[in-house]
Amino acid sequence: MEHTHTPHILIIYTGGTIGMIENPETGALENFDFEQFRHHVPELKRFNFQIDALAFESPIDSSDMEPRYWIKMARIIAEHYESYDGFVLLHGTDTMAFTASALSFMLENLAKPVIVTGSQLPIGQLRTDGKENLLTSIEIAAARNAEGKPMVPEVCIFFESKLMRGNRTTKINAEGFNAFRSFNFAPLAYAGIHIKYDEHLIHQPKHAKPFKPHFLLDNNVLILTLFPGIRKEVVDTCFAVNGLRAVILKTYGSGNAPQKPWFLERIRQLIARDVIVVNISQCYKGTVEMHRYETGLQLLQAGVINGYDSTVEAVITKLMFLLGHSQSTKEIIEKMNTSIAGEITI
Ligand code: ASP
Repeated sequence: MEHTHTPHILIIYTGGTIGMIENPETGALENFDFEQFRHHVPELKRFNFQIDALAFESPIDSSDMEPRYWIKMARIIAEHYESYDGFVLLHGTDTMAFTASALSFMLENLAKPVIVTGSQLPIGQLRTDGKENLLTSIEIAAARNAEGKPMVPEVCIFFESKLMRGNRTTKINAEGFNAFRSFNFAPLAYAGIHIKYDEHLIHQPKHAKPFKPHFLLDNNVLILTLFPGIRKEVVDTCFAVNGLRAVILKTYGSGNAPQKPWFLERIRQLIARDVIVVNISQCYKGTVEMHRYETGLQLLQAGVINGYDSTVEAVITKLMFLLGHSQSTKEIIEKMNTSIAGEITI
């Protein structure tokens, strides 16, 4: 695109608080029409770019998120990819980090910004954080670098004042406006008086490779959070699920688990059934290092894969994506040990 080209931005409204309104009778938040939404944000007209918007026919609270909606979002982006310079996806905060992670894997060789945002207060409310989040996200989606290329050609979450890589982000606050954090990767930009980009952290696409959207996901996956006192019967019931293809173990500290023989035996049995077992930490910050303690080493020896410094959102969506596309366990394990969209630090 030429430097002089007027950016075209597509807003995609999927649902969530940002587009909700309070039912005066019940006090509950309900979805409202996207055209009304535009009236609440007259500032949209002040951008000198072309901004178009489309919405899910039935917007959803993001607690109802399902892989089929990620496929729908990926399809919308793919269908409009050539006509727009950037995308702003409006989404509920509850599962926003899962969606941003899933899309980061599904939109291969993405060369345009996909900025996911939402709000803690509906856009119609006086103290809403939604306007700020929306307007700054649009500005980021339209930003160019010195070469006239999109400044942030990644799937990101913008919230409050930070632009974060989507697959590094987690919701950490159900109350404050500062609701998201990226514990293991520095923000890509801060929005204050100026929007300051940390350009060396931003992923630059290999322009020779064409954009390749993917639409296959396999949700035969499970997350098991360890806790002192976890019962054998509970573990057995979880692992007995038919068709199970991958288990994420949320372990302690740097990737440690109980040394009980029955527990390790179950892990070995899973791996013998060709189920992929990935180790991530319950700690938000830091990485899994299974060789550090005996309690981690035994998992490594049993064949458990390192999840490194993944967020739970990134690891589960990466597994769904890889299971949806790859046949061989060996190939999936190789990709789990590779950063495919900047999701892990190796
Ligand atoms: N439950 C809402 C949702 O995730 C909360 C929000 O939008 O922030 O859709």
